[in-house]
Amino acid sequence: MINSSDEYKAEIVRILGGDSTRFFEMMNGEPYRGISVNRLKISPERLLPLLPFAVEKSPFYADGYYITGDAEGIGRHPLHHAGAFYVQEPSASSAVSLLDAAPGEKILDLCAAPGGKSAQIASCLRGSGLIWSNEVVKNRAQILLSNFERMGIGNGVVSSCYPEVLCARLEGYFDKVLVDAPCSGEGMFRKDPAAVDEWSREHVISCSERQLSILGSAAKALKEGGILVYSTCTFSYEENEGVIAEFLKRHDDFEMCEVNDDLGRRTELPCAVRITPLEGGEGHFAAKLKKRCTGGYAPAYTYNEASRSAKADAAVRTVERELADIFKDVPKGVISVRNDKAFILPDELPDVSGCGVIRAGILAGELKRNRFEPAHSLFTAFAPERFRRVLELTLDDRRTGEYLRGFETDCGGAAGYTAVAVEGMVTGFGKCSSGRLKNKYPKGLRNL
Ligand code: SAM
Repeated sequence: MINSSDEYKAEIVRILGGDSTRFFEMMNGEPYRGISVNRLKISPERLLPLLPFAVEKSPFYADGYYITGDAEGIGRHPLHHAGAFYVQEPSASSAVSLLDAAPGEKILDLCAAPGGKSAQIASCLRGSGLIWSNEVVKNRAQILLSNFERMGIGNGVVSSCYPEVLCARLEGYFDKVLVDAPCSGEGMFRKDPAAVDEWSREHVISCSERQLSILGSAAKALKEGGILVYSTCTFSYEENEGVIAEFLKRHDDFEMCEVNDDLGRRTELPCAVRITPLEGGEGHFAAKLKKRCTGGYAPAYTYNEASRSAKADAAVRTVERELADIFKDVPKGVISVRNDKAFILPDELPDVSGCGVIRAGILAGELKRNRFEPAHSLFTAFAPERFRRVLELTLDDRRTGEYLRGFETDCGGAAGYTAVAVEGMVTGFGKCSSGRLKNKYPKGLRNL
């Protein structure tokens, strides 16, 4: 009798042909691990000598590296807390290489949690333009938000909305859209070999139907001439080439873009690459399409901060005063106060109503009986030189560990809210008084 594992093997032979023997041999090997450097915080040149583990350049992304040494406990390392890098399976970074994000662009990452590809996009945007990251599953959207804060992304929106609703609201708005679709996850099998037994053709087919529907929504959100990148972490023909072929059949306003197959293994489509362990990654498929220019619908969206009441005006003035005390160089951007929470909105922002927005821009802080309490994210989104008071720490300073564990620590300098920077990257803040720093590192992030 044929079982799911045999069926899966037949599927791999169909895709990889003569290379499938080597592929199956590699299935028992150690999975690849990697990091992508966050240029919002640090350059690779500065980061690499600081890392406590060995790395090697990956071929899939300009700022991507394999972890080649022992990286046990990497998530608790101060450089990780500081947002210097995102731990990412190396081939997963390839989709953003195809997207080729550039400063100033407006980009939608439609299936974004936990946020690896959004972090890469934000790093490529260098703080200019907009990264809109959507995750339909609410609790996963919270993880995405926490990664936004850690990586210091200020020009972003995090939402939790059904793709069809979001993309209809923002029809024609984005320069580029990434659909990193939910899939049958064959590229995860080396990490979790037992999952092979749960593989089924029915699941592959139901994934492909869902993927096609998400892509159909994504097509709407893209402006004419815009770029759509589709990716999965599975090998299956139906979920990859099959979905793209069916999408192109249904959307004659899209065409394929030829992609550089140095990134992976050639597929039967010139617009797509596949990466397997044979090419040095756990498994990814990525395809690049372009929406033709037909001179059709080109909507303009502008965010309008609704006219403010006198009370709201007073609240904004309080926030501005407090920001002037915290920053040497006060962040530009519209300040919006809602339900006593103050936000610094991104420069590029459409009307966000009805889009399930959880965060637009930077949460600056909260007004509590007209007293302003700054938020962690106000600090992590900016470089140390922007602040009036900074406690500069290095990796070997005992205070780095004390701060990340939530303890009070020594600080010289003037009294007041003080940014805490580790190796030049703002990681959080505290309140300095009489030479001691009261710790404001969020409890949920502390190294316990
Ligand atoms: N891009 C992410 C990253 O790099 O960290 C990984 C995304 S993961 C492959 C796919 C995501 O799609 C999951 O977070 C999942 O919750 C979400 N998802 C599940 N069903 C969905 C649906 N029907 N529409 C949109 N997204 C969905």
